[in-house]
Amino acid sequence: MLNYRAPLADYRFLLHDVLAAPAALAGCFDDDLLSPDLFDSVVEEAAKLCESALLPINRDGDEIGCTLSGDVVTTPPGFRDAYDLFRQGGWIGLAADPDLGGQGLPFCLNAVLQDMMMAANLSFGDYVGLPQAAAKTIAAHGDDHQRQLYATRLISGEWCATMCMTEPQCGTDLGLISMAAKPQSDGSYRLAGSKIFISAGDHDLTPNIVHLVLARLPDAPAGTRGLSLFLCPKFMPDEHGAPGDRNAVQVVRLERKMGYHATSTCEMLFDDATAWLVGEPNRGLAAMFTMVNVARMLVALQGLGTAEAAYQAAAAYARDRRQGRSLAGPVDPAAKADPLIVHPDVRRMLLSMRSFTEAGRLIALWYAIELDIAERHPDDARRTRASDLIGLLTPVIKASFSDLGYAACNDGMQIFGGHGYIRDTGVEQLVRDSRIAQIQEGANGIQALDLIGRKLGGNGGRAWQAFIAMVRDEIAACGNAPETADFANRLAAALDRLERATGALQQRVTADPVAMGAAGVDYQRAFALVLFGWAWLQLARHSVGSDQPQRAASLHVARYFFERELPRIDACLAIADAPAGGLMDMPDDLF
Ligand SMILES: Cc1cc2nc3c(=O)[nH]c(=O)nc-3n(C[C@H](O)[C@H](O)[C@H](O)COP(=O)(O)OP(=O)(O)OC[C@H]3O[C@@H](n4cnc5c(N)ncnc54)[C@H](O)[C@@H]3O)c2cc1C
Repeated sequence: MLNYRAPLADYRFLLHDVLAAPAALAGCFDDDLLSPDLFDSVVEEAAKLCESALLPINRDGDEIGCTLSGDVVTTPPGFRDAYDLFRQGGWIGLAADPDLGGQGLPFCLNAVLQDMMMAANLSFGDYVGLPQAAAKTIAAHGDDHQRQLYATRLISGEWCATMCMTEPQCGTDLGLISMAAKPQSDGSYRLAGSKIFISAGDHDLTPNIVHLVLARLPDAPAGTRGLSLFLCPKFMPDEHGAPGDRNAVQVVRLERKMGYHATSTCEMLFDDATAWLVGEPNRGLAAMFTMVNVARMLVALQGLGTAEAAYQAAAAYARDRRQGRSLAGPVDPAAKADPLIVHPDVRRMLLSMRSFTEAGRLIALWYAIELDIAERHPDDARRTRASDLIGLLTPVIKASFSDLGYAACNDGMQIFGGHGYIRDTGVEQLVRDSRIAQIQEGANGIQALDLIGRKLGGNGGRAWQAFIAMVRDEIAACGNAPETADFANRLAAALDRLERATGALQQRVTADPVAMGAAGVDYQRAFALVLFGWAWLQLARHSVGSDQPQRAASLHVARYFFERELPRIDACLAIADAPAGGLMDMPDDLF
């Protein structure tokens, strides 16, 4: 069984010492919401909740999963009670607008909560994350009535939500969506068609569920420009929100899947279901992207949270399990064998996992702070910079966190050997659960296309220039201290290589768009290495001189990262630079 403990000291170090979150958010929130004591108590309470309410039901969630009877989905034992605790504690509206009933706290605290939820129980995370994302979308694009009737109830946790995009013939290419929306004389619409793979499509946690659905109006243009966003409740509410008649939307099938068993994944039939337009006709994709971007961060945290749970389990096991002798001679001659932790290869895997989790937490919290700055900072230029960085880094973070998260869970299983493959230890569940993150919310190959095709060159490369400047500032801050100068020099060289490769790639893509797809994933990995290098410089800079063991550990992990992870950038960029012909010249029929 897994025994995840939220890394509280780490969150405190990141929020207060490294990111100075209260100071960074000054001007964005009232001062009383930025008190360090408030931050600490929210983080501690969130940790208690995830450890005590979510971790104990994680195993049954996997073993028993969701069940469909008639058209009603039942969640595994304990999920309703856990959801009630989240709802009663106001956790779903932690960072939501107080005018809509939220607590209005900084989003970085919500990111901490989401990270812990994913570590303790990845499947449960969607039941909290989806209403948060849907409420934000309705608040941003809906009318006042929709905000008051629906967003408030999502924020309070009274109702849950879904994101309905995928159809049998349409996954990545949303322009293929065919669900029809027929206008009615009373201003409503009727939705007709099927959606598949809908997370939390039905369940017994809330008395109503709000589906946000992409569909096509009659005579809408083809492709994504013809998509509109609709809000379609499971039960039709009266004006006070009391759920009334059942709407014509139902689950017809519960998907059987590799992991993530306690999140219901539903095929949904909309059989002339009543719905209302959210925002402008044919502007639905842009509106839905509010939800998608929130969900991309949630998915990134699936990678980060599961990696932390795997790391904790593997590190404890490696100290305890005894096999073989250290190559340098017995470490514990009195015992018949040394603990696994003496073996370089086991340490390689542990350090690889930790080089992701520690820096990943910093990146996630920094990103969450920038989200608030982008929306609330009084200074225009600062808001623009934050918004640029978020746009540029969202695909990099979604893809790298989910790739590294899955790799970390796999390494965790490897450290357990055969005992990891056997179900008892819980790490094989982490491997199965974390795998979805590489696929959903835009498969990782698509994130690379977004990065290269849209984000790098956006606004004349303004976001890219802001990123380079941010990394260079950190290199300058670390370049003169003896403890960090070598790390800074290594990152400076890597950044130079990435800059040269970026210029060359942009030129190649202009001449041959196929180059973008051929270079995509390897270029994105190189980019992520620089992002993680930036995070590791900060962690190292703030750890130097500390007498705390945790900070000494971070300096060791930083060294591991700069010596053994960052050099992968050369291979990634060499591959990204290879001619596309190596992928494209082989005729399709020879595959
Ligand atoms: C458990 C689960 C939960 C889900 N939850 C939801 C949900 O709540 N709501 C929802 O709407 N959807 C949901 N999905 C759907 C998910 O978002 C899609 O599976 C995903 O977007 C990929 O679509 P697809 O499966 O059709 O794959 P495809 O689009 O067929 O893609 C297959 C592969 O081809 C690659 N590919 C496709 N097009 C291109 C291209 N142009 N260039 C390069 N490579 C390309 C992809 O990267 C991928 O690797 C869920 C899926 C699962 C499995």
